[in-house]
Amino acid sequence: MNIDIMTLFPEFVDGVLNESIIGRARKSGKLSIGTHNIRDYSEDKHRRVDDTPYGGGKGMLMMAPPIYRCREAILNARGYNASDRVCTVYMSPRGKIFNQTVAAELAEYDGVIILCGHYEGVDERIIDEVVDMEISIGDFVLTGGELPACIVADAVGRLCDGVLSDPECHEKESFSSGLLEYPQYTRPYEYHGVKVPDVLISGHHENIEKWRYERSLEITRERRPDLLEAAEKRS
Ligand code: SAM
Repeated sequence: MNIDIMTLFPEFVDGVLNESIIGRARKSGKLSIGTHNIRDYSEDKHRRVDDTPYGGGKGMLMMAPPIYRCREAILNARGYNASDRVCTVYMSPRGKIFNQTVAAELAEYDGVIILCGHYEGVDERIIDEVVDMEISIGDFVLTGGELPACIVADAVGRLCDGVLSDPECHEKESFSSGLLEYPQYTRPYEYHGVKVPDVLISGHHENIEKWRYERSLEITRERRPDLLEAAEKRS
C-alpha cells in the first residue's frame, strides 16, 4: 500500500508521520508514504498556488493546475497501471465523516492519494476532476488538511500488513468488533489502593474473555448506544 500526501507543508506532515510505529514502518519499507509539495508544481515564478475566489469573498483558494500536475507526477512516479486501484481523497469539512470502516475501506486500495487544502480550500474543478472521496475528520474547521491527512494516513497505515507486530491487535480494538474496548490494566497490581480485577489474574481464559466482552458491551451501551443500534440493524 502506498500513501501519497499532496500538501503545502510536507515537512509538517513528515514530522508527524516519521514518529513511532508509522515512522518505523516507513523506514523499514513496510509502508510507503510520500509527501509532495504542491508548490513545486506551480508554473508561477513566485511559486504561487492560490488566488482570489471568483464572485468575491474573503480569503484565497488553491488553484487547480498545480494540484493536477502534482497528482499526475505521483501517478507516474508510482507507475500505477489501469488495473491498480487508486483512491484520491480530499480532506474537507464537508466530506463524509472518517471512521474505522472508512479506514478499512481505504486500506484495500493499492494507493491512496490525499489532497490537503489550505486557505479557503481548493477550486471545485479539481475536486470534480480527480477526487474520488471527500473526508472530514469531524464537524469543526481547521486551518489546513495536514492534521486530518496525518490522521487518515495513521489509521489506514496501521491496518496494512506488517505495520503492527501482531495483526490480532486490530480485531480486539474499539470499533473493529463493533464495540468499544474493555478496560485494560498493567503493573503494578495495586495502584493508589486500586487492585487489578481478580478475573484478569485468574489465568482462566474463558472467564477473562467473558469479562472483557461484558465490559465492552457495558461501556458501549453507556457511551455510544448508536454503535449497538447500528450493529442490530446490520444483523
Ligand atoms: N472554506 C472551507 C469550508 O468552509 O468548508 C474550509 C477551509 S479550511 C479553513 C482549509 C482546509 O482545511 C480545507 O480545505 C481542508 O483541507 C482542511 N480541513 C479543515 N477542517 C477539516 C475537517 N474537519 N476535516 C478535514 N479537513 C479539514
